[in-house]
Amino acid sequence: STRVRFAPSPTGYLHIGGVRTALFNWLWARKNRGTFVLRIEDTDQERSTDASKQVIFESLSWLGLDWDEGPGVGGNYGPYEQMARLSIYKEYAERLIAAGKAFRCYCTKEDLDKAREALKAKDPKAQFRYPGTCRDRRDQPDKPYVVRFKAPEEGTLTYVDKVFGEVTTPNAAQQDFVLLRSDGVPLYNFGAVIDDHLMEIDLVARGRDHMVNTPPQILLYQALGAKVPDFAHLPMMLAPNGEKLSKRHGAVNVLEYRKEGYTPQAVLNYLVRFGWSHGDQEVFSLKGLIDAFSWEACGRADGKFDTKKFSAILFEHLKSPELLPDAEYVQRLLPFLEARGLTGLDPAKVAGALYTVRERATSLKDAADRLDFFFRDEPVFDEKAATKFLVPASAESLRAVATLLEGTPEWTEPALEQRLVQWLEERGLQMKDIAQAARVALTGRSATPGLFQVLYVLGKDVSLARLRKGAE
Ligand code: GLU
Repeated sequence: STRVRFAPSPTGYLHIGGVRTALFNWLWARKNRGTFVLRIEDTDQERSTDASKQVIFESLSWLGLDWDEGPGVGGNYGPYEQMARLSIYKEYAERLIAAGKAFRCYCTKEDLDKAREALKAKDPKAQFRYPGTCRDRRDQPDKPYVVRFKAPEEGTLTYVDKVFGEVTTPNAAQQDFVLLRSDGVPLYNFGAVIDDHLMEIDLVARGRDHMVNTPPQILLYQALGAKVPDFAHLPMMLAPNGEKLSKRHGAVNVLEYRKEGYTPQAVLNYLVRFGWSHGDQEVFSLKGLIDAFSWEACGRADGKFDTKKFSAILFEHLKSPELLPDAEYVQRLLPFLEARGLTGLDPAKVAGALYTVRERATSLKDAADRLDFFFRDEPVFDEKAATKFLVPASAESLRAVATLLEGTPEWTEPALEQRLVQWLEERGLQMKDIAQAARVALTGRSATPGLFQVLYVLGKDVSLARLRKGAE
């Protein structure tokens, strides 16, 4: 069964473009009951940090993109962090040298700079390539060296990409690229190929910005006598203005969406549409995505990031008890309530209030804001609303309403409504004559869920106390 991988470099946060790539691999693994491998490509020691590894783990865990093999989980193909695999790369580099497919290169940076200058002097437009100086040089003990691939100079290379179809490049386009640096650290193409080979990855799916790496990687597989995996390159996620999507265009760190109160399912739902479609369906459950996913339905067109559409997808998820069951909603909401100082809340109570905001909340953060007054001893009063509606003229009706509702035989929305409506009719009054004052007294705000929902969820004692307090 299939083995796919996600191979991030831990050099910062997890970019939403990376999440899209992880998602496609994960969906394919889950659909086929295959294996989703997480591999950390930490060979850029200047930029790799342990903290950003942790951020990758945390981001994927929050998203629910669980990995079957990798850091923290283990597996039979480890270690899963490249800096722990240096001896493996060394061994394979030696093998390639022994087979005449790679060679030790003793050229110093100065040597290469000199050659580059010389070429430039001759032809300013020429593209510098490694001139092959050390291809047939004898070993020079005690001298530092890099290991270079002996790239074929003729012929062409063709592979069939699962998204982009047949791709052909002339081998002459490749130079004798470096496999191992003098300190024994592999360059990306070599590390990735050795790992994908040894980890028995059969399909490599990644952004199309990596398409330039695929021909040299295939040449390496061939040199190793290894099976070449399938490749699927995914179109890019761009900013609305067509630029590469970056911080300047809004949040690209996936954890910022967690902070803003997005649900992971909504994030994944939005990201899947970058490169994949299923008719004109926009809203999917995770299970629905797994069932529907296929490479055939992947397209080549780059997509533009659209925050409005992202919010709309989130809104659909927050509204739908199928996509986000109450219990899960509450669990995801509690931290946002806690952030407002509402700690130690009974989840059952939060669940009981949830229906009042299901259709309205635009994020978990927004839901926590809308539910806030249910869970405080006293509502926090909005200055404007209080000055406008909690005026002496409304005090008497607030007290009257409190007394009226106190006598309600059962504290249900219809019973409360019936009683109040009848009372208003008898007095030739309208709901608007008292609703705003009551609303502000009960919630501290002028925009809230319906009055009877508020009364019902607050319960009799709290409601009566707040109405009376509002009359003081
Ligand atoms: N470490 C590479 C990256 O983060 C992985 C590319 C690949 O999937 O081969 O871009």
